[in-house]
Amino acid sequence: MPLIPLRPLLETVDKYHFAQGAFNVNAVAQAKAAIEVHEMFRSAAILQGADLANGFMGGRTDFQNATLEDKKVGAKNIAAAVKKYAENSPIPVVLHLDHGKNFDSCVAAIEGGYTSVMIDGSSLPFEENVELTREVVKYAHERGVSVEGELGVLAGVEDHVFSATSTYTNPLKAVEFFRKTGCDALAISYGTMHGASKGKGVKLRKEIAIAIKECMMHENLFGVLVSHGSSTVPGYIVEEINALGGNIQNAHGISIEELKAAIPCGIGKINVDTDIRLAVTRNMKEYFAQHPEKRNSPSIGGVYQLLEEKREQFDPRAFLPPIMDTVMYGMVPDKDRAELVEVIEKGVKEAIGTLIVEFGSYGKAPLVEQVSLEEMAERYKRM
Ligand SMILES: [Zn+2]
Repeated sequence: MPLIPLRPLLETVDKYHFAQGAFNVNAVAQAKAAIEVHEMFRSAAILQGADLANGFMGGRTDFQNATLEDKKVGAKNIAAAVKKYAENSPIPVVLHLDHGKNFDSCVAAIEGGYTSVMIDGSSLPFEENVELTREVVKYAHERGVSVEGELGVLAGVEDHVFSATSTYTNPLKAVEFFRKTGCDALAISYGTMHGASKGKGVKLRKEIAIAIKECMMHENLFGVLVSHGSSTVPGYIVEEINALGGNIQNAHGISIEELKAAIPCGIGKINVDTDIRLAVTRNMKEYFAQHPEKRNSPSIGGVYQLLEEKREQFDPRAFLPPIMDTVMYGMVPDKDRAELVEVIEKGVKEAIGTLIVEFGSYGKAPLVEQVSLEEMAERYKRM
């Protein structure tokens, strides 16, 4: 199927009261694996590329310094891969830009083939955030592309997202934000946090979501709330990484129980990145532990070197620069590479499969309307 915008999926989530996990992918193999595991569970899929991940996919291994040009190239690479796998898939697939930094980043993603974008104006004063988001909504909706905004500040680090403190979202402002911008989804701050160190026993302020959704009903407004920074950071994977020579300290996620309790309160999209990173990192470490002869492989030995050098790291992008042709274009030049790609794919499937089941999106694919961007643009016009 061709990619669909986020909106029809949000409408399904809202109607049937489940949550859709949204998963970050930074390599062609990850996109393939993510789609396959959603197929396996008959779930629709939201694949996300972060603004800077697009830089990485554009060939910038120092992705923190990615330029707009790098991001344009990367957006095309990831979109080409996702489109290819989605085309032959029976499930609806959305390609969503995570944390679009500014208007240009959103345009680059849409031109590249993304069907949904997030504009993160959360660091701006309210009125400026509204203004920026409204501008993106106008551009995106004319093209049938959905938009997620953000209001309130999350603590933690996610690519370019830096904030030392957490300011919870004001529910009244959230309703005003939906009304003024016309965005389809809104990331709120209610106790989640980016990164792998969220602190022990985090409790989410679910009342914030409830308050927003209640007020929206009274105003007859549509909008789905998004939970960012929601990795569960499975303890067993962290332990395995450390047993394989890794050094990951202070890793705590949001518990599955807390996340599941937030779903009936109005959280309909849950962003997860760290869990995938951890599973992929563990699998690569395990692979080289079990196949010592591959450590000197001309094709993948460089990945092993980086895994050994960066023991505190668990972002696969830190280890993958020696195989950028595989990352960017899915090239698999030899058997060693094929084996490494397979363990990467398995890591993606383990992390995502777990959450498809926990968030309740399994079996829901047939409930999602297959809407083209052209048709969606028409619908947005009438809204
Ligand atoms: Zn985020």
